[in-house]
Amino acid sequence: MIIDLRSDTVTKPTAGMKEAMFSAPVGDDVFGEDPTVNALEEKAAKLFGMEAALYCPSGTMTNQIAIRLHTRIQTEVICHKYSHVYLYEGGGIMSNSLSSVKLLEGNLGKMTADQVKAAINPDDVHAPETTLVSLENTMNKGGGSIYTLDEVKPIKEVCKANGLKLHLDGARLFNALAESGESPANWGAQFDTISICLSKGLGCPVGSLLLGSKADIKRARKVRKVWGGGMRQAGFLAAAGIYALDHHTQRLTEDHARARALGEMLLKLSFVSEVFPVATNIVIARLDRVSPEDFMKKLADQNVKAVKFGPDLVRFVTHLDFGDDQLEEFGKRLISIK
Ligand SMILES: *Cc1c(COP(=O)(O)O)cnc(C)c1O
Repeated sequence: MIIDLRSDTVTKPTAGMKEAMFSAPVGDDVFGEDPTVNALEEKAAKLFGMEAALYCPSGTMTNQIAIRLHTRIQTEVICHKYSHVYLYEGGGIMSNSLSSVKLLEGNLGKMTADQVKAAINPDDVHAPETTLVSLENTMNKGGGSIYTLDEVKPIKEVCKANGLKLHLDGARLFNALAESGESPANWGAQFDTISICLSKGLGCPVGSLLLGSKADIKRARKVRKVWGGGMRQAGFLAAAGIYALDHHTQRLTEDHARARALGEMLLKLSFVSEVFPVATNIVIARLDRVSPEDFMKKLADQNVKAVKFGPDLVRFVTHLDFGDDQLEEFGKRLISIK
């Protein structure tokens, strides 16, 4: 048995999810006629207390559409230097939106309101105009760290006071909410747009949602079309999203408990010098004396998969297809690694 901890994207649809997919009523979504896509968009928007939603093929697309909405040529986005929108979206801020980016530092991938305020460009002929702040929750490269509402609200205040838009890359927002107990609607109230991934912890094969105002989502629909993201009978996929919102959000705390246990197991290895604080389903281990490549080779010999996450870092992610039996088996296999 292969234990695949590279990402929470590796999950396969459950029997219940597949059944929901096969029995979904569908239509042509580019004409706005897919009842299942419409139902998913309405359900998600309502959950977050936002006016509208747009179903897209990926979280990269929902993030990049949001950035396009909130920037113009020669503007600037403020985000943490670990942000997915900067590191892992192919330079899209530049190529899709012809805008610049200001990268901030901060503990575990998080920034503060004071940092954001200080990073806003002055109204000066030399400087690109700052128009957007983008946050990420949970913060992937921060080890799945969580922003709380109390941390976000002062950032929102700074944005409001300076006429900036606020976007949330919430690829794993449901992991944060499962852990903090905060309500989606309170999060919806803080942001102009939120991107959520259905294909990560929620276990869908495909799909992300962009949430926002009616006006923004109307514009987003046009951007999605021109970027080739308008899908036809997409209800077969959207049905998985509805099923996941109904069945897979509460269980995320199980993934978090297993991640904490996994982190403790890793700390017992002589060459693991540190494990980032495990807040959700991501475990990042820092290595000493052994390279990520060497550790991953040892893991591969035991049929365990993880990913390199920096010059001395390896990342493990727990998910729907990693249960208690696999956790136990992982522990056994780790013992044979020296
Ligand atoms: C996975 C992920 C995304 C979106 O990725 P896609 O593979 O394009 O769906 C965005 N932000 C974060 C933090 C992610 O982990």
